[in-house]
Amino acid sequence: MPPIEQNIATVQQQIIDAESHFGREPHSVQLLAVSKTRSADEIKHAQQAGLSAFGESYLQEALEKIDQLQQEAIEWHFIGRIQSNKTKLIAEHFDWVHSIDNLKHAQRLNSQRPDQLAPLKVCLQVNVSNEESKGGFSPASMPAVIAAFDAFPRLALSGLMAIPAPAEGLDAQRLPFQRLYQLREQLADKRWPLRTLSMGMSADLEAAIAEGSTIVRVGTAIFGARDYAARAS
Ligand SMILES: *Cc1c(COP(=O)(O)O)cnc(C)c1O
Repeated sequence: MPPIEQNIATVQQQIIDAESHFGREPHSVQLLAVSKTRSADEIKHAQQAGLSAFGESYLQEALEKIDQLQQEAIEWHFIGRIQSNKTKLIAEHFDWVHSIDNLKHAQRLNSQRPDQLAPLKVCLQVNVSNEESKGGFSPASMPAVIAAFDAFPRLALSGLMAIPAPAEGLDAQRLPFQRLYQLREQLADKRWPLRTLSMGMSADLEAAIAEGSTIVRVGTAIFGARDYAARAS
């Protein structure tokens, strides 16, 4: 088996094993393939191996790949830092945005989402590690942030996302994911059930699944180590 196929099979088995081990429903965790820095060919490869949702962080290279692969039934997720002057392109070309950390960006995406497309599915990025350098809303700000979404009919507020600081060992990795889960339990209501928890990457996906992740964002474990020098933007 070529490496990408083999890696995908391995990651899929890891997810199945973690669902079973931690008492999660089978198929309750979706695999989002993070294809930043990867070519359209590699994405097609992964698609042929059964994946249909791809995550991108750098808008310029993402738009090129979305254009090259426009015939394919691919769901595109934007997971990177959002720049104010780029929100229109994100609103026009993506199905999901995981990395909303600013209400001004949400307001712009809402007004720029084309009418003929379904509402843009979004997650709010939360800073669960209390690090100044990481993006994300503070947990304390969340009730007011969510209330603001009543004014954004072109956005479907789907859940929460986190990128915790790297940690070694399952127990240490579980803590920030547990914080995000508990925050969701506090915030969820009928209006905004916040069913999506976008958490877990190559190095900590088991810990995230243990704590209730519904989407793991996996790059390296599928495509191998990234070469940032080759990045287009
Ligand atoms: C790059 C990236 C990932 C994937 O990380 P890997 O360690 O390669 O699995 C996940 N989420 C975000 C937001 C990323 O930027």
